[in-house]
Amino acid sequence: MITQFRRLLLVGGPLLIGVWFLLPAGLERNALYVGVGALSVAANAVAARHWRSWPWALFAAGQACAVVGDLLWIYYENIAFIDPFPSPADGFYLAEYPLLTAALLLLSRRHRTADDHLARLDSTMLVAGLALPYWVLLIAPALQSGDSTLGTLIALGYPLGDVLLLGGVVRLLVVSGARNPSFRLVTAAVLTLLIADVTFTFAEDTTLGTMAFLASYLLWGVGALLPSAGTIGDPAPRPQVLTRLRLAALTGAVLLSPGILIVQLVAGLEPSTWAVALTSAALFVLVVTRMAGMVRRLEEQAGQLADQARLLDELARTDSLTGLPNRRTLDAQLVRDMAATRAGHRPLPVAILDLDHFKHYNDTRGHQAGDDLLAGAGMSWSLLLRDGDTLARYGGEEFVLLMPGRTEDDAARLLDRLRIATPDLQSFSAGLALWDGTEPPDELLRRADRALYAAKEAGRGRVVRAAEIGASG
Ligand code: GH3
Ligand code: MG
Ligand code: MG
Repeated sequence: MITQFRRLLLVGGPLLIGVWFLLPAGLERNALYVGVGALSVAANAVAARHWRSWPWALFAAGQACAVVGDLLWIYYENIAFIDPFPSPADGFYLAEYPLLTAALLLLSRRHRTADDHLARLDSTMLVAGLALPYWVLLIAPALQSGDSTLGTLIALGYPLGDVLLLGGVVRLLVVSGARNPSFRLVTAAVLTLLIADVTFTFAEDTTLGTMAFLASYLLWGVGALLPSAGTIGDPAPRPQVLTRLRLAALTGAVLLSPGILIVQLVAGLEPSTWAVALTSAALFVLVVTRMAGMVRRLEEQAGQLADQARLLDELARTDSLTGLPNRRTLDAQLVRDMAATRAGHRPLPVAILDLDHFKHYNDTRGHQAGDDLLAGAGMSWSLLLRDGDTLARYGGEEFVLLMPGRTEDDAARLLDRLRIATPDLQSFSAGLALWDGTEPPDELLRRADRALYAAKEAGRGRVVRAAEIGASG
């Protein structure tokens, strides 16, 4: 049913506008106009019922007000021959704006995201900027017109209604909603309605304005009958904060107020000094608030990135099985310890520890038990160290221990205590080398490794000093 209705509007709508254009002014032509409006009301009501949606119901209600206003207007002009302005018809026309705006705001409320605050600021900026030309061209002149008070009030109501509706549609466009076909048609319909209002006010001939009203009805009606009408208010999958288009729109809105002043001055018109000054002041405050919001966001994001970088750095520097510093960290620490002990004329003993018969342990107890032994040994040994000592997993079941500030004897005693503390009655062999103060790190480790080899050769479960086996090993 909805599909047929949509096809009818798509094909019949443009035809009706064509017929309207060809008909001479009079009752038939006006009746045709009301008919198109009624079709759009029906389409919006169908969408409201089908999707059980308040926004579509409010769209239908708003347009119904306009159609009733049209009927009254036709009655006054074509039947009773009374000037329809001002009349109750205006009351219905004016009621359309808050209803449509309410629907637009309801739709934009569904889009709540973290960037809503910025979106609100953006829409306020756009509306403040765009309201100024309405004020200068429509509202201020209406205030100064010599009409009766009621007439003035009603005449003011139309541009104010436009600004209201503009606010609603800008808000909807600025929040991060999914741009589906129904959404596009409805926003196009609202913008066409706004253009129609302005054209109607300024153009001598009302044909163009009326055709814009008709086009707005059709766009709206088709938009209501599209399958995407049900998801018109759904949030966008990935909202963008500041698109190029938005930046351009914001710049344009902000430049409107000095622009209007310049045009007035160049054209020799009376400048709207107060309106421009107040709008500019409001816009400056909004721009600064917007900037502050963005800077805060950037700072937050920078903070999160720094946290992640710290975590990644920590992970890159640590051995995942034992939680000890890894080989890369150890190499850097050795260079630092060398510099510090040389400067302080302190000794720097370095040991390589290698678990004894670990392959056998693995083979008999399983790989998981081997892992547990590695982690447990790292933990038990660490408890016996002091600040300044660095124990690292160098690879496999090999560990390196840096003991800056300890004498070689002290270091050997510490290694004996560590060996006894090895979990599950296991042991290690260690090669101990005292830095000579000049040799490069890899040479120092090579000497410790040769001493380790000697310790294994001598029967394991012991510490051998590099000095004992001679420089050549
Ligand atoms: P030695 O007393 O001569 O040092 O004999 P070993 O068996 O300890 O030495 P070998 O080099 O023959 O074997 C080392 C074993 O360590 C072999 C390897 O499977 C095991 N290994 C290396 N890294 C890990 C690890 O991360 N987890 C476990 N469970 N085993 C490991
Ligand atoms: Mg080994
Ligand atoms: Mg081993």
